[in-house]
Amino acid sequence: MSDPVFSPHAFNKVAIIGLGLIGSSFARALREKGLAKNISGSARSQKTAELAEAIGVVDKAFANPADAVRDADLVFLAMPVQATESVLRAIKPALRADAIITDGGSSKGNVEAAARAVFEKIPAGFVPGHPIAGSEQSGVLAGRADLFLRHKVILTPLPETSPDALTSVRALWQAMGAEVLEMTVAKHDEVLAKTSHLPHLLAFSLVDTLARESENLDIFRYAAGGFRDFTRIAASDPVMWHDIFLANKSAVLNALQHFTDGVSELRDAIEQEDSEALLGIFTRAKVARDHFTHMLAGTAYTKTMKSKNIEFLVQAGGALNGTFRVPGDKSISHRSIMLGSIAEGVTEVSGFLEGEDALATLQAFRDMGVVIEGPNNGAVKIHGVGLHGLQAPPGAIYCGNSGTSMRLLSGILAAQAFDTVMTGDASLSKRPMERVARPLRAMGAEILTTGEKGTPPVTIKGGKALKGLHYDMPMASAQVKSCVLLAGLWAEGDTVVTEPAPTRDHTERMLRGFGYDVKVEGATVTVKGGGRLTATRIDVPADISSAAFFMVGASIAEGSDVTLQHVGLNPTRIGVINILRAMGGDLTVFNAREVGGEPVADIRIRSAKLKGIRIPEDQVPLAIDEFPSLFIAAACAEGETVLTGAEELRVKESDRIQVMADGLTTLGIKAEPTPDGIVIQGGQIGSGRVVSHGDHRIAMSFAMAALCSSGPIEIEDCANVATSFPDFTGLARRAGLHIAVTEKE
Ligand code: NAP
Repeated sequence: MSDPVFSPHAFNKVAIIGLGLIGSSFARALREKGLAKNISGSARSQKTAELAEAIGVVDKAFANPADAVRDADLVFLAMPVQATESVLRAIKPALRADAIITDGGSSKGNVEAAARAVFEKIPAGFVPGHPIAGSEQSGVLAGRADLFLRHKVILTPLPETSPDALTSVRALWQAMGAEVLEMTVAKHDEVLAKTSHLPHLLAFSLVDTLARESENLDIFRYAAGGFRDFTRIAASDPVMWHDIFLANKSAVLNALQHFTDGVSELRDAIEQEDSEALLGIFTRAKVARDHFTHMLAGTAYTKTMKSKNIEFLVQAGGALNGTFRVPGDKSISHRSIMLGSIAEGVTEVSGFLEGEDALATLQAFRDMGVVIEGPNNGAVKIHGVGLHGLQAPPGAIYCGNSGTSMRLLSGILAAQAFDTVMTGDASLSKRPMERVARPLRAMGAEILTTGEKGTPPVTIKGGKALKGLHYDMPMASAQVKSCVLLAGLWAEGDTVVTEPAPTRDHTERMLRGFGYDVKVEGATVTVKGGGRLTATRIDVPADISSAAFFMVGASIAEGSDVTLQHVGLNPTRIGVINILRAMGGDLTVFNAREVGGEPVADIRIRSAKLKGIRIPEDQVPLAIDEFPSLFIAAACAEGETVLTGAEELRVKESDRIQVMADGLTTLGIKAEPTPDGIVIQGGQIGSGRVVSHGDHRIAMSFAMAALCSSGPIEIEDCANVATSFPDFTGLARRAGLHIAVTEKE
């Protein structure tokens, strides 16, 4: 047998008191990782001690724990927590003065109390701890060397604990593969009472209550998966849990009271058949787990496919045909949730874009007590609470990656009676928020941003009376305008915003859709505080930015005839239609109507011979997001297309001028970038591999280019397409594009 290999940080002798699941797993992990040269142990019964020694969990077992700890440089206590004081008393005379003493007990307040009762002065080597790992099995045979691997261990150092001892214990757990966290004893007991002790209590109670009923056998015989999942932990060791509940009595009682209040709320709701209350509780609970997981991970609100490497492979040729509807407009989806929540009555939304950004807004209002059903295939039902019905959220509002959520919410939150904090993922945390904070402060709000650059987290103090303001916006921004107008709903008097250049006016339109009076005179918008919003029905228009790919695709592919239904035709966004028509596109707009204040219509697009044009600069802001697809139209057109006045394109999700020019050049098209635009010579699009740089619109534009190319086009880095256009590839394929998706980890 080869000699064991010890870690350079190995302890000479480790003593473990209590050789059950936790103690014997600790011993096994020490051995496997070479972290102790000698392991001694002690249990309550001789039988356990002998067994532990016989199966090699410890080198030597002792009946008396004092004998086990003699000469040990590390002592680990792993018996039920109520035994801590008696064990400490027993081992005290034999402890080395410099020994590190740590434990794995599930409650920490009583471990500290036991140590204070036994020692006049807590030893510097005393480091209470708790591995958040285990199972409902117990005993020496249940132990596993990998029990702590990728689990959390909480250390709760005391004021007397030396930094060296803390470092050693931390390093030891990390060497076993655990993630180490630190918190105070009180915090630990409060947190664990809620997350571990309360669920165990409920499981024990439910099983006991049902088992005492006369027909209990039937209950257990027919018990479905839910019952089994929920009650699995009721098989845990009774003595251990007896000790934990008594040891952590006050925190457990607090958690239980909180829970009891929740159950009686549910009880009342059922008794009174209060559907709204029931749906509120259930929908909040359903989404809460996911939400908190994302918050903790600091990732975008919903799982996107960003972690995967998605590529499109599009075969040349084909034509687009059919009648269909592309996903809902993102800006309008956000606003439908916001205004629906602060309106009076129930707002029904259909066509809601279930992308991560709008879902972050939805969750924010759920956090503030609004009952929102769905989304279910784009259908959302919002039980509005009125302008004064929002409630303080239980914690920070997490906006994920969504700047729209954070900026628009700032205006609403600035006027509430309660304090709020908004946070976001890594990328949102770098975006500037002072542009909304400044005008809100001028209205009387108290709002703090973080760091020199004024980034999230954003902290807003509640209970401030806002006053109307005349704000001359220094920059053209629909988000800033909307934020100030929304705050204006609660402000005294008129709130007036003047913009330097036209921006999207979805907020103004939807406010009117909810029956709120909004005055627009040229570049100036006015709302008067103190009105009310009345619930309405909103069929979110299809996003013209998503529709643009099919407008271009159908125009360039011979034999195409596509009808796009219910497309939003907000006048600030119809540049793509105007420009395509100017290039000779065959687009017919019909069935025009108004929905929630927004104009919508159906659009029929038939293939046409396009010609190059000089794009009028007044159309640029109206088509700013559609240029990637318009560049593809230009590449297929006869002659030269010139774009100027579009420097903003360089600071979108990617430098869209450069990235498109690179891709077009790869495909054999002459494309010359200029500082504020591009010059494209129409020609034959060839075959090749292009990179989208994670920009969804670039990816979808090059996919459409294959309709006119001489060979296949491969597009790298397409995962973000799902954020603005879920099922783009499915819809495109059904319409006639020969697109395949490959996915690499
Ligand atoms: P376990 O499997 O039931 O083992 C308990 C061990 O402690 C047994 O070896 C028992 O000896 C011994 N013991 C009992 N009273 C003793 C005393 N007065 N003096 C010396 N040894 C004594 O329990 P466990 O699951 O390992 O739990 C141990 C500790 O870890 C508890 O404090 C618990 O709160 C904590 N913990 C448990 C879990 C979990 O999921 N199980 C998770 C994290 C932390 P005998 O075998 O001779 O009875």
